[in-house]
Amino acid sequence: MELLDGNKTSKEIKLEIAEVVSKRKADGKKIPHLAAVLVGSNGASMTYVGAKVKACEEVGFKSTLLQLEENISEQELISKIIGLNNDPDIDGYIVQLPLPKHIDEHKILLAIDPRKDVDGFHPENVGRMALNLPCFLPATPGGIIELLKRYKVQTESKHAVVIGRSHIVGLPMTILLQRNAYPGNCTVTLTHSKTKNLEAICAEAEIIIAALGRPEFVTAAMVKEGAVVVDVGITRVPDPSKKSGFRLAGDVKFDEVAPKCSFITPVPGGVGPMTIVSLLNNTLQAVQ
Ligand code: NAP
Repeated sequence: MELLDGNKTSKEIKLEIAEVVSKRKADGKKIPHLAAVLVGSNGASMTYVGAKVKACEEVGFKSTLLQLEENISEQELISKIIGLNNDPDIDGYIVQLPLPKHIDEHKILLAIDPRKDVDGFHPENVGRMALNLPCFLPATPGGIIELLKRYKVQTESKHAVVIGRSHIVGLPMTILLQRNAYPGNCTVTLTHSKTKNLEAICAEAEIIIAALGRPEFVTAAMVKEGAVVVDVGITRVPDPSKKSGFRLAGDVKFDEVAPKCSFITPVPGGVGPMTIVSLLNNTLQAVQ
């Protein structure tokens, strides 16, 4: 079993990005500038946005955090977004999800200029991805693809099972794995909460992407010998022994599944750090 080490790989990629940024500086070119919009004070969202801003600093990007009140109106938020669209110094930006219930996420995503949509959530980028045209890949699936590539994981003709069909992880992951490209060329089964016989379907898979948000859902009985398992899940599970009062749990029962795998991602330190470098890569692509 080999660990698909997102911490190590993301550090290598950050060094590569930092080199490109220094060269741009030396050549008098624009320094990439990423903005993050955070509405309210959701603990997990604050942690994710904080990690993204820190990563920008590490590679020499400029970053701006727009922290907005929980009770901001939808129209006010759209005005802020139009401001970012029109600001020539901002190359790309993200709106951290989830948004408060009174705001229609779809309306907000549509307001983002697709050329600055470094999260790759705008329908124009999703459509371009589906047609295999140049676009911003959504950060988490893009990060997983990069991780598979860096570890030279064979994907061609493999049966991949994706668990979860969210617009930000499961569905785009399915699109990327079936593409006529490397990594890709898989035969993909997309599963969700209404899927019957999920255990049996997973047990047939040569690649499993678990993105459902149910801690330790994937057990050894669901995994074939030699499978590649990518665990996207991050759930805060109460744990009084931790200072924070919680621990992060993935969707895979790592201890019993890992010995059966050819490759597996840990949680934390697998997909999470790759999502962040994917965002940095998209921002670099935006400025270029
Ligand atoms: P989501 O929007 O809640 O979607 C979950 C999906 O899982 C849905 O499609 C749901 O099916 C499916 N599902 C739920 N229970 C199931 C079951 N028992 N069997 C089969 N499918 C089931 O979640 P998400 O945003 O994709 O996130 C998934 C997990 O990944 C979460 O833990 C999240 O925190 C984590 N995440 C991690 C990163 C990272 O950077 N590492 C990034 C994004 C998300 P239905 O559609 O039928 O409801």
